[in-house]
Amino acid sequence: MANNNQSMQVIETVAQLQKVIDSHIAAGRTVGFTPTMGALHDGHMTLIRHSVHENDVTVCSIFVNPTQFNEATDLDKYPRTPEADASMLKKNGADILFMPSVAEVYPNGKKATVTVDLEGLDEQMEGAFRPGHFAGVVQVVHRLVEIVTPDRLYMGQKDFQQFSIIAKMLHNLQMETSLRVVPIVRAPSGLALSSRNVRLSPEHRAAAPQIHEVLKAVNSRKYRYSVADLQDYGMAQLALIKDFRPEYFMIADGHTLRPIADVRDTDYVVACVAVWAGDVRLIDNMIYKKPRSLQIFVPPLL
Ligand code: AMP
Repeated sequence: MANNNQSMQVIETVAQLQKVIDSHIAAGRTVGFTPTMGALHDGHMTLIRHSVHENDVTVCSIFVNPTQFNEATDLDKYPRTPEADASMLKKNGADILFMPSVAEVYPNGKKATVTVDLEGLDEQMEGAFRPGHFAGVVQVVHRLVEIVTPDRLYMGQKDFQQFSIIAKMLHNLQMETSLRVVPIVRAPSGLALSSRNVRLSPEHRAAAPQIHEVLKAVNSRKYRYSVADLQDYGMAQLALIKDFRPEYFMIADGHTLRPIADVRDTDYVVACVAVWAGDVRLIDNMIYKKPRSLQIFVPPLL
């Protein structure tokens, strides 16, 4: 549809959403879906624009999923801006905004019912530092995809480990949805856009673009040092930023997210970081090597 004059439907129940989606599918329309936790910014809008470009109907969900937060305070502090979100989505051509309650998403309780063998994709990085996080992510994305039954699912490279795990889930469960990954959208300063950025102090916000600078500096050295040395260098550079506390700087095989010894060991290499800026946790990443055959990333919108 992708028609800015068309009004966007805001739907809160699964039954109502499925009725609307079923009528679109019956009319032969394709459906693109972007799950989010709200506090939307231009990173999310880039996903929406790709969905509008590639599908007849674009659905965005806003659901702050309690089961993926390993700390209750993080869930409480998560920014919520529903009115601004709705107007941004409308402007960018979304057709349906789905804003379900926790009871709509988990009518039988929050206990997970789907299990996926993630083959170690969840062992390192976010999986190691946020226990239970990816079980919650798999649970919610599986449930939402089951409700929306999209042709295409849009996720951001910003959460590299997350999209890798969801790709595995879709594949293992033979779901009929293809994953489309959108490259990281950054502020002109280089800072990766994130809903959490609004919680940064002015000083931390001014310093945060250095995370991207460190990722680039390590990239430029990647053929001269071992991965262990590159990671140490990355950690040391991040620790130099005033008030910043790096949690990890990991250079991994992009296919398996397992450690590698040298960037020549595989054709797909990603560097991922997590850094605390005061009490705000930021993540970022950079692909250091990518196989040509990889089809999952969207081409740039002209
Ligand atoms: P969130 O609301 O943080 O759960 O994010 C919803 C989706 O937007 C996820 O697939 C994120 O990876 C994606 N996303 C968030 N920030 C960015 C960004 N700066 N660039 C690209 N995708 C993003």
